Amino acid sequence: MRLALSERTEGVENASLSSIIEKVLSYILDKNIKVIKPERNLQGIVYPEIDNLLVSLGVTMPSYIVLEALREKGLLEKKVIDRAITCPNCGSFDVITRYHCPNCDSFNLEKTHLVTHVSCGYTDAYINFKKNSKLFCPSCGKEISENELIKREEFSEFFLCRNCNTRITEPEVKHECLSCHTVFTPLEASYIEVSEYYVKEEEVMKYKRKLIISTLASELERQGLRRESNALKGESGITHDFDLVVSQGNRKIVFVWSQDKKGEELVRDMFMTFAKAVDIKNADVVYVVPEENSKNLPKLERSNWFLLVYKNLDDLKKKLTKLLKSSH
Ligand SMILES: [Zn+2]
Ligand SMILES: [Zn+2]
Ligand SMILES: [Zn+2]
Repeated sequence: MRLALSERTEGVENASLSSIIEKVLSYILDKNIKVIKPERNLQGIVYPEIDNLLVSLGVTMPSYIVLEALREKGLLEKKVIDRAITCPNCGSFDVITRYHCPNCDSFNLEKTHLVTHVSCGYTDAYINFKKNSKLFCPSCGKEISENELIKREEFSEFFLCRNCNTRITEPEVKHECLSCHTVFTPLEASYIEVSEYYVKEEEVMKYKRKLIISTLASELERQGLRRESNALKGESGITHDFDLVVSQGNRKIVFVWSQDKKGEELVRDMFMTFAKAVDIKNADVVYVVPEENSKNLPKLERSNWFLLVYKNLDDLKKKLTKLLKSSH
């Protein structure tokens, strides 16, 4: 019982992910998007175009999950363009970096350089000569001017720990999350990829076609129709290819998906398909068009001609069921 339920839930999740993927793909094709670029903010890495689309669809899933799902299907190619430090505890991007003394762990380090007091030969960090805005030699105690100090080349620059006076050339790097205040080292940090996604257009089109055709086929098979070869010979003797052919007894139904054709190109394709309906008298011809492309389509009348306009995959199944009933 429990197994059956979990299987069903999983099925629902997969179905909704695939319908989200279908919408994202339509959007990518429609807007002619070639590259999906990330933006960084304190909440994380966002893909504004895709995030806005998901919000408009009422989807709370982060865009990278959808993008990664598309990449796994071979529809997008990922290119790592940067890395970002995030909190290993809470995942926040609101992270600051500090340098720490390897001796006493203090973060109170000051950058300085070595100088020698010419007249007494005493060498020390420049900041140890400074008192308020004046210079005093810590060894001989004299007040001196800048040109009485020689800069030493061997330790050109280093940090001086203001707590334990250690000279440090390689401080320890530590991060603090400003969200949950976890302090962590680079090795403890989450150092995550920042990626761009390149659209593999040909693959996207192929995938969409497979999705539409397999949705139609599985729904038709569920309703007891049998899948046939995709080629049918017309009365003219010409063999026509279709996206899908099914049969039920003597009745044959063929499907043609308009892909992403629009405007004039769509009307031309529709007329060509209509001509096939004239040639193939013993089959019903269903021309399948996404709703967003279906405006101002000419009305074609013929007893074996059907237009199926759909909004999404669920709607496609519903309209198909309605059509099967009405065309009986
Ligand atoms: Zn945190
Ligand atoms: Zn120290
Ligand atoms: Zn001196």
